[in-house]
Amino acid sequence: MIRSITDVDVRGKKILTRVDFNVPQDDERRITDDTRISESLPTIESIVSRGGIPVLMSHLGRPNGKRNEKYSLNPVAERLADLTHKEVLFAPDCIGKEVEDLVRSAAPNQIILLENLRFHAGEEGNDSAFCKQLRMLGDVYCNDAFGTAHRAHSSTSGVAALFDTVCAGLLMLKELQYLGSALEKPQRPFISVLGGSKISGKIEVISSLLGKCDAILIGGGMMYTFLKAMGKEIGTSLVEEDRIDTAKTLLDSARALGVNLAVPADAVVADAFSNDAQTQIVDVDHIPQNWMGMDIGPSTVETYSSMIANAGTVVWNGPMGVFEMPNFSHGTRAIASAMAESTRKGAITIIGGGDSAAAISQFGLSTSVTHVSTGGGASLEYLEGKTLPGVAALNK
Ligand code: AMP
Repeated sequence: MIRSITDVDVRGKKILTRVDFNVPQDDERRITDDTRISESLPTIESIVSRGGIPVLMSHLGRPNGKRNEKYSLNPVAERLADLTHKEVLFAPDCIGKEVEDLVRSAAPNQIILLENLRFHAGEEGNDSAFCKQLRMLGDVYCNDAFGTAHRAHSSTSGVAALFDTVCAGLLMLKELQYLGSALEKPQRPFISVLGGSKISGKIEVISSLLGKCDAILIGGGMMYTFLKAMGKEIGTSLVEEDRIDTAKTLLDSARALGVNLAVPADAVVADAFSNDAQTQIVDVDHIPQNWMGMDIGPSTVETYSSMIANAGTVVWNGPMGVFEMPNFSHGTRAIASAMAESTRKGAITIIGGGDSAAAISQFGLSTSVTHVSTGGGASLEYLEGKTLPGVAALNK
């Protein structure tokens, strides 16, 4: 049973809280999207409004265990102060005497943000000495960083074991609630839409979802490995030769289980990997030599859209085509619109983070679906049925 931050008496206590402030920045280190900060505000406000003091910790980028100002969380501290209208004390490091003194002297209504955890190799190493130092900075441990819950790092796993009271933040609970109920008691029909570049990263999720879904709709670069497994010519499309047998096995398992593992019937093909390339729409039995598949075709869009629009639950991970190029974004856009329509009709629709979250935001439809997960890798591992270390650490 995971305890919620709202069930913990936080008054006068320091709440060491793992958040995911790994925000995108431009070359001048200006934050280009502060969704991750705003998503953690309910937890921060829950602590502050009840007289607790949040001691926030996060990573940013990949400084590889060394201090590097390029990855400082300083710009995040400023944005957090703007968003919360509170005083944010930015600690010069995430461990050490100076930080401990700062935490000790903090008063209610203040928020502390520690410097980037990954300035120390002990963070990703889940190092016990580093965990002990982090332990000094709070009375209660809270994890609100679903996006890093699939990593067994000091701040997501090791340090939690050192606390008597551990709990989940509101964002973490929201993620677990939506993903958990989709898997455990989905409204049917339950449909998964899986795309993205490669089949290799999605084999386990496809295998796991085959036992749970009524249909799995395949798109993106990985559809061509399936088409090849079905004996079709795929021109110069993306293919993983070493996964053709796996694709065959997945198609056979789907047949045996009576699950519809749907592979597109048509594709938009191009004569080069470029937005300005020549294009044509072909059915998948006629992909010309030297042409590559860049998007799902209109007939597939129609079939998939009507299945999605009539679903009870839809989980989507991975774009249907090279959506970053406008000429090959139509399939992904159509799926996003179908998800929105399905939501309007009462379905539970979940976007599994990463590129699909970027796509739905690009199309302005993020608020038209039930839930957009903040964790690409974490949501995929959750859907695979794996226990996430950061979640397991909260089960005390
Ligand atoms: P992933 O990281 O595996 O989820 O893949 C996302 C990437 O897949 C995006 O950058 C898309 O551009 C890419 N992608 C989608 N469809 C195709 C395709 N048909 N050929 C090559 N790349 C694709």
